[in-house]
Amino acid sequence: MQYREFGKTGVKVSALGFGCMRLPVIGGVNTQIEEEEAARMLRTAIDRGVNYVDTAYPYHGGESEKFVGRALQDGYREKVYLASKSPVFSITKEEDFENFLQTQLERLQTDHIDFYLLHALDADRWENVVKKFDLLTKIRRAKEDGRVRHIGFSFHDGAEAFIRILDEFEDCEFCQIQYNYIDVEHQATQKGLEEAARRGLGVVVMEPLLGGKLASPPAQVAKALSPARTPVEWALDFVWHQAGVGPVLSGMSTMQQTLDNLDYASRSSAGMLSGEELGMFAEARRVYETMAFVPCTKCAYCMPCPFGLDIPKIYESYNMSASASPDKALEAYNALAVGADACRQCGKCLGVCPQHIDPKESMAQAAAFFQDLREKKAKK
Ligand code: SF4
Ligand code: SF4
Repeated sequence: MQYREFGKTGVKVSALGFGCMRLPVIGGVNTQIEEEEAARMLRTAIDRGVNYVDTAYPYHGGESEKFVGRALQDGYREKVYLASKSPVFSITKEEDFENFLQTQLERLQTDHIDFYLLHALDADRWENVVKKFDLLTKIRRAKEDGRVRHIGFSFHDGAEAFIRILDEFEDCEFCQIQYNYIDVEHQATQKGLEEAARRGLGVVVMEPLLGGKLASPPAQVAKALSPARTPVEWALDFVWHQAGVGPVLSGMSTMQQTLDNLDYASRSSAGMLSGEELGMFAEARRVYETMAFVPCTKCAYCMPCPFGLDIPKIYESYNMSASASPDKALEAYNALAVGADACRQCGKCLGVCPQHIDPKESMAQAAAFFQDLREKKAKK
């Protein structure tokens, strides 16, 4: 394993962090973690040097933290820095922050969380939750009494909001941002990453594979990348190349992904890419941006939909129409019990979506697209 400086925290973190949002599940049910296999993957990663484990209150419908608490028994808790997040989006009254933290410590079976984040901040939550309920005072108090060791935030919004939060959260020690070779101009952006590093913050990167989309990118994008490495390795190397990045979180769902990522991490270093290789990513990005996608990362924060839509699967099948073939996309869409046309535009998913996907446009587009495809097929 390679280790990296983590801002000014004084901590050296493994290049690969273990994200616990996409653990293997039974029968495709997000809340039913395949515990034995997931624990085997997590412990294998730790045995091979991973020292940063990331979870959050809502992952796997609340089961992720409980799983992590159990999987880190038998001496594994002491081998890692444990990160979890305060569910800012669920805080509606003064006492919520404390109650959530207490529950999290119990679920995680620990007396402290090493890296505690205000989860999924954006401009609106910063003003209307963090400031309204004075969460900075509360998180600082938790640090003072030792229940959390380092304080930070995770982020899903644009660069302007990111810098504002950095300015106003002066004692913030680290942040977690979405970053990959496609997103250099989206979310916190390349400039935001560099600014956070310049200020001495540790930077955790999430979604290095853009919700898995860069693991098997559309053929046109894949063509821009040299076949010398797998698309996953290229995507991770792009992130590790950045000097300001600490742990790169990969939400691993199989043992094979875990083993592959461990190998890739062992070869990683800041500044590892040549100018020619960086040019290759610029071309891949240019091609990607010409294609129509719903930027869904399958995080499932929007689930369950009150009207029974499997939102991430609908977007996944819609996106397949660009990256695979329309026939395959239609096959995946037809397998769903409820189609995009059943969306009632209640807005619940927009309120929680870190990618700010508006169902008014996206569901309507997906419904029209598949309706059209079905009609064309019927005519053949
Ligand atoms: S807007 Fe549509 S997809 Fe989103 S939660 Fe409401 S019904 Fe479900
Ligand atoms: S629509 Fe948004 S909240 Fe739902 S899975 Fe996709 S990215 Fe996550």
